[in-house]
Amino acid sequence: MQPETLTPQACQPSTSLGRLVVLTGPSGVGKGTLVKALLSTHPELHLSISATTRQPRPGEVHGQQYYFVDRATFEEMIATEQLLEWAEYAGNLYGTPRGAVEAEIAAGKTVILEIELVGARVVRQTFPAAFRVFILPPSLDELERRLRDRGTDADPVIQQRLAHAQTELAARDEFDVQIVNDDFDTALRQIEQAVLDGA
Ligand code: 5GP
Repeated sequence: MQPETLTPQACQPSTSLGRLVVLTGPSGVGKGTLVKALLSTHPELHLSISATTRQPRPGEVHGQQYYFVDRATFEEMIATEQLLEWAEYAGNLYGTPRGAVEAEIAAGKTVILEIELVGARVVRQTFPAAFRVFILPPSLDELERRLRDRGTDADPVIQQRLAHAQTELAARDEFDVQIVNDDFDTALRQIEQAVLDGA
């Protein structure tokens, strides 16, 4: 192509692409509540809805918090490459449907993935431009208290989640930004700044 035939848009194709933001942190750290608060004031941000084989918790609705699918359906999604990433976590499968994320990025939107560490590492390989944020609890004791107060998981599941949390916390330095969710409003401000300014 001759240089003089290039339009400004053709010279800068990447400026129209959206951004991918990965939020990771131990179960119970408050990622979901922070993201909900962030989305309520920033409707321009899009949260990817994952597929999972986990049973819905009371109040969770198919297509809102997750797409709740059985293992055979999830395995079919893996086999047909419908997932951007996926991981097994506490005995269940979780994955990010590829189509919606790719369409939103192509449309110039900012998409947030709220995913665990294994998935975040896959995204780092497949989408190196993704901006990665890690949310930490003030302490492991506080994390355990939050998991128990939430009252959604039986004790063995809480133990699994706490064990996983230690692995995740050890990987915090792999992320672009680390935010401690001690005071909620402070963490929300920091996350807002990271998501809007980062990358
Ligand atoms: P929960 O069962 O508490 O909803 O989620 C358990 C863990 O799975 C959380 O750390 C959550 O961030 C993670 N998770 C949710 N969706 C996905 C996903 O699509 N991919 C991966 N890798 N992790 C996910």
